[in-house]
Amino acid sequence: MAKVLICDPVSADAIAAIREAGHEVVEKTDMTPEILLDTVPDFDAMVVRGATKARRNIIEKAASGEMKLIVRGGVGLDNIDLVAAKEFGVEVRNTPAASSVAVAELAMAQLLGSCRFLCAADSTMKKGEWNKKAYSKGLELWGSTLGLIGFGRIAREVAKRAHAFDMNIIFYDPYIDDQAGIPVKKVNMETLCRDADFISLHVPHNDETHYILDKPQFEMMKDGVVIVNCGRGGTVNEAALVDALDSGKVAFIGSDVFEQEPPADNPLVSHKKSLVTPHIGAGTFGAKKRVGGEVASIVIDYFK
Ligand code: NAD
Repeated sequence: MAKVLICDPVSADAIAAIREAGHEVVEKTDMTPEILLDTVPDFDAMVVRGATKARRNIIEKAASGEMKLIVRGGVGLDNIDLVAAKEFGVEVRNTPAASSVAVAELAMAQLLGSCRFLCAADSTMKKGEWNKKAYSKGLELWGSTLGLIGFGRIAREVAKRAHAFDMNIIFYDPYIDDQAGIPVKKVNMETLCRDADFISLHVPHNDETHYILDKPQFEMMKDGVVIVNCGRGGTVNEAALVDALDSGKVAFIGSDVFEQEPPADNPLVSHKKSLVTPHIGAGTFGAKKRVGGEVASIVIDYFK
């Protein structure tokens, strides 16, 4: 029997399944780093989503006790110090595929919402305005070119949906040659910037992808390009993006992720040409259920 610490909310079904397999589960969410540090050594496994940060000191302390496994419900592992986990012999697992469709659907929603002014049209109508003229300058996805930065799990789901919208799809991903059976064309970054009418980012944030879209890339783009970022904050230079929105180079940005989350006084958030959501890409009932199911399977299989 293992003792499992649930640090961020996971589905009730997942917790029930872990308990049914005979393990003790303690749910303790919203812990301060100090309380987390005191709590972890007593547990064999901890489950986190995006909120809890398993930094080096937490992992070292956990490993000095019983900790053997950290499960990240979701994709990005940027809240876990993987180097420390390896050093202290703690296995780290995640549930990479469970939320791909949910994020892809949000990216499509951001694309459609951006090019038809959905949020602005709705909020001004609710204030009693009828700005038909202002919001009758929409763009069509049909026949236009979508540039995907990164061509992993989520980008492929976006590509399938964009294909159904009759878009031409190009992607930049130096690590992927396979088109995954989808009519897409691999290009270099410069071609993607020059040729795309819409750009959607689906890369992790690391040294290589930091500010992958910055002033030089914006300058190469078509005037009036629309950008969507449902990947990670830090991949787009927000200050340069705000300049590009102000100049009209970028017509619109749909963003679910930010350099600082939650953003503090961020001109990108208040910009009239942005459609922003609070990092809700994986926030669907279906994705949460699938994430919970995978988390439970990982814990149960590990301690079999
Ligand atoms: P994935 O690992 O399947 O795909 C990422 C792709 O990026 C890979 O194909 C990789 O080769 C590519 N890549 C890496 N470095 C690159 C570079 N320098 N240039 C171009 N491509 C590069 O991951 P995924 O499941 O598709 O997730 C993509 C991103 O979406 C993740 O980083 C994750 O952080 C983010 N995400 C966001 C949400 C949300 O709520 N908004 C939810 C889940 C995932």
